[in-house]
Amino acid sequence: MDTDNSEITGINVPALSGMTITNLAEALKDEKPYRAKQIFSWIARGAQSFDEMTNLPRQFRKQLAEQFVIRKSRVTEKLEDRDGTVKLRLCLEDGAAIETVLLAAPGESNSDHSPEKPGQHNNGRLTACLSTQAGCPVGCVFCKTGSLGFLRNLEAAEITEQFLYLSDIAKKKEGRRISNIVVMGMGEPLLNLEALRAALDILCSKSGLNCSKRKVTVSTSGITRGILDMAENGPEAELALSLTSAREALRNRLMPGIQGNSLAQIKEALQVYQKKQGRRITLEIVLLGGINTGEEEASALAAYAAQLSTIINLIPWNPAEGLQFEGKNLREPEEREIETFRALLEQRGFAVTRRYRRGRSISGACGQLGAAGGNG
Ligand code: SF4
Repeated sequence: MDTDNSEITGINVPALSGMTITNLAEALKDEKPYRAKQIFSWIARGAQSFDEMTNLPRQFRKQLAEQFVIRKSRVTEKLEDRDGTVKLRLCLEDGAAIETVLLAAPGESNSDHSPEKPGQHNNGRLTACLSTQAGCPVGCVFCKTGSLGFLRNLEAAEITEQFLYLSDIAKKKEGRRISNIVVMGMGEPLLNLEALRAALDILCSKSGLNCSKRKVTVSTSGITRGILDMAENGPEAELALSLTSAREALRNRLMPGIQGNSLAQIKEALQVYQKKQGRRITLEIVLLGGINTGEEEASALAAYAAQLSTIINLIPWNPAEGLQFEGKNLREPEEREIETFRALLEQRGFAVTRRYRRGRSISGACGQLGAAGGNG
């Protein structure tokens, strides 16, 4: 019997991709104890059919195929930018669509001001940018995902599968493993922390993909209770706050879904996180031309960052169709605005990096995910 179940799409059939070794051992408690580890290892190696699992008895593979699927999402579109960025669009069991991105270059630099030349890849870092929700409830005005509204949280399997599909591409295209994970795709990760925790457990397991916990960054819009939960219960990860503006009134207008979390509360939570985890926080500023690039903004940011151990990451806004702020089209910041803002922060003694634009021609850059719509 052909036990390739890539066509199985039945909702509620558990996916092996979302199971830890412990989950597998529980689900297969009548089997030999080492079977869970064998299966876990096959999933990590990218197996997409039960027939590939050649160290499992044929009858057992058949039984597995009746109970589980390997991956529950499928790739419906693959786009590649000439800078090497690859974006995948995945269709989930219920028809929802999400996007995930493979970046074959560093996302930022604090020393080189000249953009990379097309096709010039970095040989070190290969980064998977993962989504945690279909749509997003925060509704940032500068983000395409935010304009889609919120559909639902992703399951752990739907998060790990993004990595698995990107990993297949990394192996084929680059001949190497993904080195970094950034949870900066569609959705607010700290509103889906349980599934994210489970997914990162799987991705960082030494018996499987063995991703380095030190190379995982989670970016939040500032969900205070989620930051405190992470501080207490993990996952261990670098934390980035998508701050955008340290002036509360402006921030609340730019990121309307975050209003229950004041800047003061967020800072307190970040301080708890730093104390517990001993890690520097990245403050991300999406620079919007003419909106948050002035001196007043830089002063407010400097005051906010003063009691935190931080690095400030400037992200020049990437255009996405139809995004407006209070009736006016958003615009990209000019080079002069970016560098003046950077200088204002550096003069105040802050370490500042700047994220270079990657994947823009395929709407795969920061803030552009979901450009093709939320369902598909
Ligand atoms: S920037 Fe992040 S938090 Fe804001 S709408 Fe987009 S995905 Fe959601």
